Amino acid sequence: MLLPQTISILGQQIPSITVFLAAAFVYFFFVVWYEGKKDGFDIENLFNIFFVSIILASGISFALWRYLHWSAIYAYNSPLLKIETNLFALTVFYIMLLITACLYARRLRWSYFKIADILALAVSFVVMFYALGNFFVYGGAKYVIMVLTILLLNRLILVYRSYKFSSGISFGILNTLLGLYIFFFYFVSGHLLVGVLLVTISSVLLYLRFKEGNMNTSLPADLLKHLKNKLINKENELKRQDKLLKEEDPYMQPGRAEENAEIMDEAILEDSRRELTDASRGTIASILVQVRKALAYIKMGKYGICEVCGKAIDKARLKIYPEATKCTDCASKLDQ
Ligand SMILES: [Zn+2]
Repeated sequence: MLLPQTISILGQQIPSITVFLAAAFVYFFFVVWYEGKKDGFDIENLFNIFFVSIILASGISFALWRYLHWSAIYAYNSPLLKIETNLFALTVFYIMLLITACLYARRLRWSYFKIADILALAVSFVVMFYALGNFFVYGGAKYVIMVLTILLLNRLILVYRSYKFSSGISFGILNTLLGLYIFFFYFVSGHLLVGVLLVTISSVLLYLRFKEGNMNTSLPADLLKHLKNKLINKENELKRQDKLLKEEDPYMQPGRAEENAEIMDEAILEDSRRELTDASRGTIASILVQVRKALAYIKMGKYGICEVCGKAIDKARLKIYPEATKCTDCASKLDQ
C-alpha cells in the first residue's frame, strides 16, 4: 500500500495510523474552538467541557477495556464479551463523552443540543482522519466512502448549520452516519447492536428537538409584528443619530484646514471632542449590529429563542429590549 504499517519516530516503531489519530485529536479541538466561537460560546468554558468529558470518558472506557481483557482470560463466559472488546470500549467512550458534555452544558445552562452538534462535528472529523489513515496504510473502498460521505455531509452542515438547521439536527445526521458505518463496515461481534444503538440515540434526540422546537417558536403573530416594527424604527433612529454625530465630527467637517488647529489648546480640545464622538458612534454601531441581528433572527424564524441556551426568551424582556437574542440568565452570565 501507500504507507508502511509502522513508522519509526525517535527510534520507536509506531503504527502509522497513530500519526493520523494525533492529527485528528488536534483537529478535534480546532473544530470545537471554531464552531464554538461561531455559536457565541465562552471558549474557556467550552474547552473545559470537552477536556473534562474526554478525560472522564477515557478513564471509564480504559477501565472497562482492561476489565474485558481480564475477563477474557479469567471469566470467559461473561456476557460483556459477546461484543468485541475494542468496539465496546469505544462505544462506552463515545456515549460517556456525550453524556458528560451534555450534563456539563446543562449545568452552565447552555443548550445541550448545540454542544452535541459541536461534539458530533468534531468526532466526525476524527473518524475521517482515521479512515484516511487506514486508506493510506491498508487501502480499501470502504475508507474512500467514509472520507467522501463525511466531507460531503460536513460541507452541507457547515453551510446550513445555525441558520437553516436548528441545533441538534447536525448531531442527528452525523451520529446516524457513525451508526451506519459501524453497522456496514466494522464486521466484529456486536457491531449490529452498536450500530442500531447509535441510530436510536439520534432518533430520540431528533424527536426531543422536534418537540421542544415546536414549543419554542411560537411568539404570537401580532406581538412579533409589533416587535419587528419597533426594531425597524430603532434601526432608522440609530442610523439618523450616527449621521448627526458624523456631521459633528470635527475631522469630517469640510473646510477644516490646518489653521483651525493652529493653537495647541484648540488642537487638544478638538481631539478630545473627536474622542467623544468616536465613543458614542462606537456604541451606536454596536447597538445597530444587535438590532440587525434580531431582525435577521425574525427572518430565520429563530427570534425569541436564546442563542446560548436555546430556551424561550421572556416576553416581558423582549417588549422592553426587542433586540435581545439571549435570555436574561445567559445575558447576565456573559456580563460578569
Ligand atoms: Zn439563555
